[in-house]
Amino acid sequence: MTEIRVDPSAGFCFGVQRAVDKVYEMLETGRPIYTYGPVVHNETVIDDLKAKGAIVLETEEELQALDPPEGAAIIIRAHGIPRRIYELLETKHIEVVDCTCPFVIKIQKLAGEHSRAGEHVLIAGNPKHPEVEGIVGWCDGPVDVLETPEDAEKYPFSEEETYFLVSQTTYQLNKFTQIVEIFEKRGYNDNVVNTICSATQIRQQHAEELASEADVMIVIGGRNSSNTRKLYEICAARCPETHYIQTLDDLHLERSKIVRLVGITAGASTPKKSIEEVQKYVRAYF
Ligand code: SF4
Repeated sequence: MTEIRVDPSAGFCFGVQRAVDKVYEMLETGRPIYTYGPVVHNETVIDDLKAKGAIVLETEEELQALDPPEGAAIIIRAHGIPRRIYELLETKHIEVVDCTCPFVIKIQKLAGEHSRAGEHVLIAGNPKHPEVEGIVGWCDGPVDVLETPEDAEKYPFSEEETYFLVSQTTYQLNKFTQIVEIFEKRGYNDNVVNTICSATQIRQQHAEELASEADVMIVIGGRNSSNTRKLYEICAARCPETHYIQTLDDLHLERSKIVRLVGITAGASTPKKSIEEVQKYVRAYF
């Protein structure tokens, strides 16, 4: 008998849930509703929001060109935005509904304060991720993004500067620890704040534990979701048969070996419905 175990922390975190709920709630008012970027990295949810009338502005240029109709509102997603986008929004006649996650606001504030104090801000994260672009946009002085521990190894520290290190909320904890150790080894250990959010830490920890026991591991999440990709990396390192799927259609299981335990986890952008569908399918399959 195959056991199917779903990680209890899988799926929408509170920051994403709050933003998605807000878009649905605003759509019910019948007003023109925009979001700045997709509110969640999940095509199924975004298609549904669009079908209900949400308009997604993908770029800063699109926002610049926007001439909002009477009564329009724009929702800022959980990832947050750079300061200059707030300034741009002030020039538009549009209500701004800010759903930046409080964990992200904390990093923006920290980065801004330390930057204004003359420190060189370093962010452990993906430089192309909107959350990181947002944090960079709150710094007034020099700022660099370190994507991997290797970047920390070869980072050209300067004796003249004081550094301040934070992390993207969804950064992998063991990589952040490695970066901090590299900094210490190189003599820069003063200003470090681990800003990985607790929802991410707990989910990564559960995924690691589950993948260590499972014969088959399934990770559900959007292709563009960085936290899902990290979950996949963690699981694949412990369970060789780890599947990264966006929806049930992507799942191709093999029945050739004995499977005692199937573990299921999901990124912060995966709705409960998708997790339940996969769980139901896997239960019927084995
Ligand atoms: S992953 Fe964490 S920081 Fe990001 S939206 Fe969710 S709760 Fe907020």
